[in-house]
Amino acid sequence: MRFEEFSTKFVQQVGKKEGSVSPVIINSASFGYGDSETGEGIFDGSVKKPLYSRMGNPTSGQLEQILAQMDGGIGAVATSSGMGATAMATLSLLKSGDEIISVGGLFGGTYSYFSETLSRFGITTRFFDVDELDTIQAAITDKTKMIFLESVGNPNMRLPDIKAVAVIADAHGVVLMVDNTITPLSIAPIALGADIVVYSTTKIITGNASSLGGAVVFREIREGEDKFKTDRYSEVHPFIKKMGSMALIGNAKKRALRDFGMSANGFGSYLTMLGLETLPLRMDRIVTSVEKISHALQDQGFAVNHPCLSSHPHHERYLSQFSQGCGTLLTIDMGSKAAAFSFLNRSKLITITANIGDSRTLGLHMASTIYRDFDDSTREFLGITAGLIRISIGLENPEQIINDFIAARG
Ligand SMILES: *Cc1c(COP(=O)(O)O)cnc(C)c1O
Repeated sequence: MRFEEFSTKFVQQVGKKEGSVSPVIINSASFGYGDSETGEGIFDGSVKKPLYSRMGNPTSGQLEQILAQMDGGIGAVATSSGMGATAMATLSLLKSGDEIISVGGLFGGTYSYFSETLSRFGITTRFFDVDELDTIQAAITDKTKMIFLESVGNPNMRLPDIKAVAVIADAHGVVLMVDNTITPLSIAPIALGADIVVYSTTKIITGNASSLGGAVVFREIREGEDKFKTDRYSEVHPFIKKMGSMALIGNAKKRALRDFGMSANGFGSYLTMLGLETLPLRMDRIVTSVEKISHALQDQGFAVNHPCLSSHPHHERYLSQFSQGCGTLLTIDMGSKAAAFSFLNRSKLITITANIGDSRTLGLHMASTIYRDFDDSTREFLGITAGLIRISIGLENPEQIINDFIAARG
């Protein structure tokens, strides 16, 4: 069981056996080098000491090590937010003229980043549903630099076959990047063939709305053949020459973090580590509650969307590939905006907010908030109906949540 394995790992990795047990918060922006020779060594990489907090912070460094091990990556870079993580990974690898293939999802911020922002810099994105594998394969061109995938569709709750997409990415020598904000406690993208994994640690990892943050985990560059050694990724080659297996870390730091500054801060990383310690316990409880609540609400006539239900198109995939659940979300279609507002306003337990993965149960009407600026066809593609509410289940007693929802419907 992954929850058991990580319960031991996280508390042991966050706490120290000697001296301060709780992680030491180093929030200094800069670090004295002592002498000029050391300064030179720090800048050329031969001396492993902190350079300046935009390029890396020691407290964030501890978090990065834990996250890299959690995913089986060679390293990680912590960022100021989940969007900062996606921005860092894409901006460090892509240039004008390149193409992204986006599969599944999609979190509203990522959708606007791809469709409205990266497009202004000449990077184009095409969007596909998780089951359009043949179309995805056919859409890959010489300019395709990245296939992007969300491990659970937020908020459409559709589940991708990550392994199948990884096989396509490998066959064409294209990088597969997965937004795995639901964490490897649910599904482990690098083990399934992904190259890069991005997180919003703001969500279930920290788990209590105390810290905005993100991270990118990179796999190692392999000896012998590796897709990053092909012409498609020629910009990475100088880093491979210099840093070998760690090249993607150097590439991300020098080509995005240094110049765009989406860096994590020490205090935020400290709070994120405190969250990590209890992540397996929270996740275990919440995924059990999500299933219980989904079934109970469906029995009560709610239009619930969650793959644990046999009515969901990816129910079989949920059972075979997502045996540890798929995070904290479920959605309910209340039929109309008025019914959705009334339900949310009458609930005594739901906190109405744009966050997910919290200790508390959260809820939000989708069309009037995150997806308000999108046109009808985009909303349809993303599964945003007029009455759609996204619910993120929290740690409360599931029976009380069910009763509260029934009462709130009126
Ligand atoms: C919230 C979220 C993000 C963005 O993260 P921030 O920390 O809010 O910047 C990206 N992807 C997913 C799946 C998210 O839920």
